[in-house]
Amino acid sequence: MHQVSLEEFYRRLRTSPYKGLSSAEAALRLTRDGPNTLVQRKHEPEFVKFLRQMINLFALLLWAGAFLSFLAEWIRPGEGNVFIAVALVGVVLLNGTFGYYQQHKAEQIMASFRDMLPPMARVIRDGILRQIPAAQLVRGDVILLEEGDQVPADARLFEVSGLKVDNSSLTGESEPQLRTTYQTDKRLLESRNVVFSGTTAQTGEGKAVVFATGMKTQIGRTADLTQTVATREIPIRREIRHFTRIISLIAVVMGGVVFLVSFFLLENPLLAKLIFAIGIIVANVPEGLLPTVTLCLSIAARRMAENKALIKNLESVETLGCTTVICTDKTGTLTQNRMEVKRLFLNECIHTEADARFEPEELEKLQLVASLCNNAHLKPDDPTQYLGDPTEGALLVFSQRFHDVNVCQAACPRLYEEPFTAATKLMVTINLVEGKQLACLKGAPDVAIGMCDSILINGRPLPLSEVHRQAYLSAYEEFAGKGERVLLLAYREVEPRESWRNEDLPGGGYIFVGLVGMFDPPRPGVPEAVTAIRGAGVRVVMVTGDYQTTAVAIGRMIGLVTVEKPAVITGEQLRVMGDAMLEWELEEKEVLFARISPEQKLRIVQALQRHGEVVAVTGDGVNDAPALKQADIGVAMGLSGTDVARESADMVLMDDNFATLLPAIREGRTIFDNLKKSIAYTVTHAVPEVAPYLAFLLFGIPLPLTVTLILSIDLGTDMLPAIALASEQAERDIMLIPPRSRKERLVSARLIFLAYGLHGVLEAVAAFYAYFSVLHDGGWRSGTPLAANDPLYLKAVSAFFAAIVICQVANGLMSKTHRQSLLQQGVFSNRWLLVSIAMELALAAAIIGLEPFHLLFGNASLNIGDFFLAWPFAVGMLFLDEGRRWLIRRNVRWVIKLTGC
Ligand code: ADP
Ligand code: MG
Repeated sequence: MHQVSLEEFYRRLRTSPYKGLSSAEAALRLTRDGPNTLVQRKHEPEFVKFLRQMINLFALLLWAGAFLSFLAEWIRPGEGNVFIAVALVGVVLLNGTFGYYQQHKAEQIMASFRDMLPPMARVIRDGILRQIPAAQLVRGDVILLEEGDQVPADARLFEVSGLKVDNSSLTGESEPQLRTTYQTDKRLLESRNVVFSGTTAQTGEGKAVVFATGMKTQIGRTADLTQTVATREIPIRREIRHFTRIISLIAVVMGGVVFLVSFFLLENPLLAKLIFAIGIIVANVPEGLLPTVTLCLSIAARRMAENKALIKNLESVETLGCTTVICTDKTGTLTQNRMEVKRLFLNECIHTEADARFEPEELEKLQLVASLCNNAHLKPDDPTQYLGDPTEGALLVFSQRFHDVNVCQAACPRLYEEPFTAATKLMVTINLVEGKQLACLKGAPDVAIGMCDSILINGRPLPLSEVHRQAYLSAYEEFAGKGERVLLLAYREVEPRESWRNEDLPGGGYIFVGLVGMFDPPRPGVPEAVTAIRGAGVRVVMVTGDYQTTAVAIGRMIGLVTVEKPAVITGEQLRVMGDAMLEWELEEKEVLFARISPEQKLRIVQALQRHGEVVAVTGDGVNDAPALKQADIGVAMGLSGTDVARESADMVLMDDNFATLLPAIREGRTIFDNLKKSIAYTVTHAVPEVAPYLAFLLFGIPLPLTVTLILSIDLGTDMLPAIALASEQAERDIMLIPPRSRKERLVSARLIFLAYGLHGVLEAVAAFYAYFSVLHDGGWRSGTPLAANDPLYLKAVSAFFAAIVICQVANGLMSKTHRQSLLQQGVFSNRWLLVSIAMELALAAAIIGLEPFHLLFGNASLNIGDFFLAWPFAVGMLFLDEGRRWLIRRNVRWVIKLTGC
C-alpha cells in the first residue's frame, strides 16, 4: 500500500485526494467494514474479579473465623457455633458481592467518561472539510493532520508540511520522525510516507488517505491491547488499605492475646475461647470501609463530570482538594476564544473597525497578508463563521467584508508555510502574487517588528524611523491596554525559488503594514470564579503567550489583578532569571507571566512545587504536555485542546472554562471531608463492640454482646448511614478555609482519638448502662451466676445492642459536620442519611423483635422502653459534640489539637 504509485493507490481505494469520498459511499463502507474502533480482546473475566473480592485480607480473616467456628461445631456440636460460621460465610459473600458491585460501578463510571470524549477526525468528504468521530472513518477517507492530533487510522500521506510524528506507542521509538510523501523503506512500519493509528502528530501538517481502520490497523493487529486501562492504585485507597492493615493487625494480635490469656487463666471450654478470639477480631475490623470509599470516589467523579470536569485519574479528585496554585492560560480558558477585530493601526493612524474610510492602499495590503498568511477557513454557507484557529478566523471574517477571501487565496497559491507555534509566535507563508513571490508575515509585534526595516506610508514603503517606531509602540500599548490581542502584519518580496525550506526564509527586510487589535471577551462567570477560588486560599497565576499589557488588562477585567502594580514576568526575563530569583518572585501575591513559551511553563511549575505548592496547570498545545505531566493536576481543554494535551492531563475541562474548576475544587474538598466523616462514624462502634469482651475477661461479667450481633452492626445497621455520609453536602465554609495540607492524612491521630477515645467510649458506657439496667430491673445482682440461656440475660444482650444502635444514630447525625453547628448544616438536609437511619432502626428492631432470629443472634425481645434506654446518652453525645464544634469555631487551640479533624 505504501509502495504503489499514488494514482494506483487512489484507484484501488476508489477515492480522490481532493474531494474525498461521498457521504453515501462512506456510509456504505462503514456498514461493510465496521467502525474504526479497537476491540479489547483480553478481559479479566467477571467471575475472576468477583473471586478476587472474596480473598482479600478482610475476607481471609473472616474465612479463618468461619473455619474456627466450624471446627468448634465439629468438636462440640449443638452449641450454636454453626450459626456463627454460617453468618461469617454469609458476611464474606455479602461483602464480596457488595465490593464487586462497587468496583464494577466505578469501572462503568470511568468507562462512560471515555465515551464523553470521543476522538475526532477531520476528513474531506463530498469535497468539504468536516469533523467527524474517528470511529466513523473508513478506507479511502482523506484526513487532515495537524500539530497535536492523534492519528485516527493507518493512512498514506500525499501532502506534508514539516509533519513529524511520534511513533513511540507503536515502535517504541520516542524521537519524533519526519514524514514524507514518498516511500523510504520496503517495510511498512519503517517507511516515512505512512502514519499509523494511535500515534501522534508532533509538529507540522499533512493530508493522507486512510487504508486501514479498526482492528486492521497496525495497532489493532498487535495482540496485546490490555494495557489500555491500567488501573493504578490511588493514594486515598492506598491509605485506607494501609489503615485497615494496621487495624486488622491490631485485631489479630488482640484476638491472639485474648485467646492466650483465657487459655491459661480461664476455665471455660476451649471452644468459648476460640469464639472470643473470633469476636475480638471481627469486632475490630471495619469490614465496610473499602467499598464505601470506592463508592464515595465514584460518586464524586460523576458529580464532577456532570459539572463538565472530567477526571481521568480518580486520585485527582483528592488532589484537587489540596491544590494551592492554579496556573491558567488566558486565551480560551479565561476568555471565550471568540476573537473580533476591533482596531487597526495603518498609515500611522488608529482606526476603529467601524470606520469605513480606511487608508485604501494599506488596508488592501493588510487584507492580502491576513488572507494568505492564514490557515482558517470560512464556512461556505456562512462567511461570518470559520473553522480553525480563532485568531486567524477573526482575520478572515474581517477581510471578507472588503474582498473575497477565497478568490484571493485561489489567485495567490501558497508555496511554503512556516506554521505558527507558541514558541516562535510567528507565522510566515510564501505566496505567488501576480507573478512575484511574496513572503507574508504575521505574529506577535514585539517579535515581528525586529524583522521589519520599512513601513508602508501612503502606499509606499519608507525606512522605519524612530518616529515611526514611537507611533507604533504607542498604538501597540493602547490596543493592549484595552485587553486586545495585537498582531503585526508585514510582507516583502523575495528572490523566486523552486522550492522553499525553513532556512531559506528571510529573517528581515519586511515592510510593516499595520497592527490589528482583536478583542476576546472574558468568559461570563470567570470573574466570580476567580474571586471564589482566591477566597478559598488558592492562588491563580496567569501564564500566557500574549503580551504583558494585554495580560494585565484582561487580568484586571476578571479580578485577577487588583493591586496597582502586579509582578509581571516576561518570557525574556524568565530566560535569564535564576531559579532562586524566580522562586522569590513567585512569593508575590499577584504574579503574571506573559510572552511565555510552553517550555517555560514547566519551569514555573517546578519552581512552585519546590516551594511546596500543589499545582494545577491548564494547557492545550503539544508543547504543554511536559508541564501537564509535571503538575500535580494537569488540566487539558476538551474543546480546543490537542489530543496530546488531553492524553497527558489528569483532568479535562469539557467546556474549556476556567470557572469549571471552582465546583471541581469544591467537590475535591468535600469528598475528603466526607470520607473522614464516614470513617469517623464507622470506626466508632469498635469500642463498644470490643469492650464487652474485655470486661468479660477482666471482670468476669456475663458476655454482653454476641459475635453475630457485632456483625449485624458492622455490616447491617451501620453500613448505609456510612455511605449516606459520603453524599453529605459541603459545609458552608468549605470554600472559605485554606486548602488542606497535602500531608494531612485521611485517618489522622485526631480522628482516631475523637472516634475511639471520645465517642466510642461514650457509646460503650451507654451500652453497659443499658445492659446493667435491664439485668438490675430483672432482679439480677452482681456476683450471681447467669445461665447462657437465661431469658433475662438474653434481654440484656438485646439492650446492649440497642444502645449501640441508638448512639450510632446520634453519631451519624453529628458526623454530618466537622466545624459547623448541626443546625447550620441542617439536621434534615441529607435525605439519604435520614432514610438510612430509619432503615438502621428498622433493622435493629427486627433483630430484637423477631423471634426466629433469636437463636442466630443469641438475644431476646425487648419492650420499647428498654430499646431506647440509652437515649439520654445519645442526646448527651449530640450536645457534647455540638459544644466541641462550637469551641472549634471559636478557635480554641487544645480542642482543635485534640479533636479537630
Ligand atoms: P495564549 O497564551 O493567549 O494562548 P498564544 O501562545 O496562543 O497565547 O499566542 C501568543 C501570541 O502569538 C499572541 O499574542 C499573538 O500575538 C501571536 N499569535 C497568536 N496566534 C497567532 C497566529 N495564528 N499567527 C501568528 N501569530 C499569532
Ligand atoms: Mg493559545
